[in-house]
Amino acid sequence: MKRWIKCVVLGLVLPVTCLPAAGTSASFLGIRQAGNAKQVIITGRAMCLEPSGRQVPDEVDCSIESVKFSFHSNDGHNYSFVPDDALTAMFTDHRVRQRELQVTAWQHQNGQLELVAVRSIKGGKLYDIYYYCDICNITAYAPGPCPCCRRELEFKEAPAQEFRADESNGGRLDERRR
Ligand SMILES: [Zn+2]
Repeated sequence: MKRWIKCVVLGLVLPVTCLPAAGTSASFLGIRQAGNAKQVIITGRAMCLEPSGRQVPDEVDCSIESVKFSFHSNDGHNYSFVPDDALTAMFTDHRVRQRELQVTAWQHQNGQLELVAVRSIKGGKLYDIYYYCDICNITAYAPGPCPCCRRELEFKEAPAQEFRADESNGGRLDERRR
């Protein structure tokens, strides 16, 4: 938990460093418990909702200051997010909202999600989504200018490196990543 929060706050580290690593091999089986939250994996689409409830069209970016984010799962449920969830910033990008997504999140007792990872699904395969500046070699999870050179960060999708989280491999994640 602490590791993920640190990664989100920094926003500048490679996605692979934000994956659960040490100490999770026995418990990374789809559902985990941490206090009153449980870890869930949900597929569906992200939405930006204006205060009126109107959905911002998928063709345009939305502003993090003026919308609430919602996640509509393929099985028909709507989820909201904890207010300070930094990873939701990528939902302002219309390209992210146009994709089918698989989110890994902590679901709190009030039902709200706290994102751990957001991946896109294309052709049955998972892709990591991130933003990148090749001049500064900086990776971030939110669109916008590079914090170093101020050039617009480039939107990237790369085949996810780790196994699909819903396909338990007996907790061998750590071995694979060495
Ligand atoms: Zn840069």
